[in-house]
Amino acid sequence: MKTMFLDVSQLCVQYAGRTSRAVDQASFQLQTGDIGVLIGPSGCGKTTLLRAVAGLERASAGSIRLAGEIVSSPQVHLPAESRRIGMVFQDYALFPHLDVSRNVGFGLAHLKAAERQERVRRVLELVGLAQAEHLHPHQLSGGQQQRVALARALAPRPRLLLLDEPFSNLDVDLRERLAHEVRGILKAAGATALFVTHDQLEAFAIGDRIGVMHEGRLQQWGEAYDLYHRPATRFVAEFIGHGVFAHARLEQGPDKVVVHTALGDLNDMQECPLPSAYPQGLCDVLLRADDIVHDDAAPVKAQIVRKAFRGSEFLYTLKLQSGESVMAHVPSHHDHAVGEWIGIRAQVDHVVTFPRQAL
Ligand code: ADP
Repeated sequence: MKTMFLDVSQLCVQYAGRTSRAVDQASFQLQTGDIGVLIGPSGCGKTTLLRAVAGLERASAGSIRLAGEIVSSPQVHLPAESRRIGMVFQDYALFPHLDVSRNVGFGLAHLKAAERQERVRRVLELVGLAQAEHLHPHQLSGGQQQRVALARALAPRPRLLLLDEPFSNLDVDLRERLAHEVRGILKAAGATALFVTHDQLEAFAIGDRIGVMHEGRLQQWGEAYDLYHRPATRFVAEFIGHGVFAHARLEQGPDKVVVHTALGDLNDMQECPLPSAYPQGLCDVLLRADDIVHDDAAPVKAQIVRKAFRGSEFLYTLKLQSGESVMAHVPSHHDHAVGEWIGIRAQVDHVVTFPRQAL
């Protein structure tokens, strides 16, 4: 059975001289061998939370447990160097004058030379750089250097690995590929890891569990599927994927709930709240770009306001006659001009609603 390895409970971190908390009552857990990712806009508190887990910031309230032991609370602060946590940062700062094997062996001074060599060989194999042990950092690509940094962090067998935006200095194309590779490496090493990123694709490529942060608060901690299909807050709904909110009215039909929207009625949903959840069933419904289908035969027309080419598809921003906006992913062979009116309909499997707000 997997055990809870990292347990963050109601954690608050407040910097001196600041009125608001950088991390505000964050709670989440990570099982042994799992990879967690914290995602959110710049300034939301991701790095502060990671640094608190590392022991580089103090908890002003709440607690952090590692393998059942409290390492941070207002009363307890286990120093960073005693936590057996490895870290990989954005500027991975390899030692330029040391070759790859010396860089990787740097934290292994306590081992005998033969053991150290063996451990270095094992982690370099793990990251696919066994052939590079005698090269110097400047002879490696950015992606290879980052894998050396990962090997260096894994070499002393940390109990937990923390990674803060490790790919942000790399090309976008390389980033997602490396994210998949790093996931494979961490899984092969059986490592438990916590990542910070602001990039959704990266988060989805790496994480078993993903936490969305906003203004110091962890808004939701869950699997990617749930963040997308069952967002807990409006912020999560808007942050993950592309979409907009539209006014809607839920009504109980004879055998199922119908959702009335400016785009027509939604039927045949897999999941939908009951009308009694809102006064008169009035609420806002999330319409994602994937939920909006371009259909020339549809009675509802919308005008293309903006379009962005995404390779296999366009992301259209559309305006309905009612003035409401929606977004739609449309296969890129349907290349319509900005200003054109096209037919659309909504096809929503998981209906996500929130209390009504002025649009
Ligand atoms: P993120 O990693 O999501 O960009 P941070 O954790 O770096 O966010 O920052 C969260 C908040 O804490 C921000 O308002 C930031 O200005 C503030 N902050 C970060 N580091 C410090 C610091 N050393 N002293 C004071 N405030 C800080």
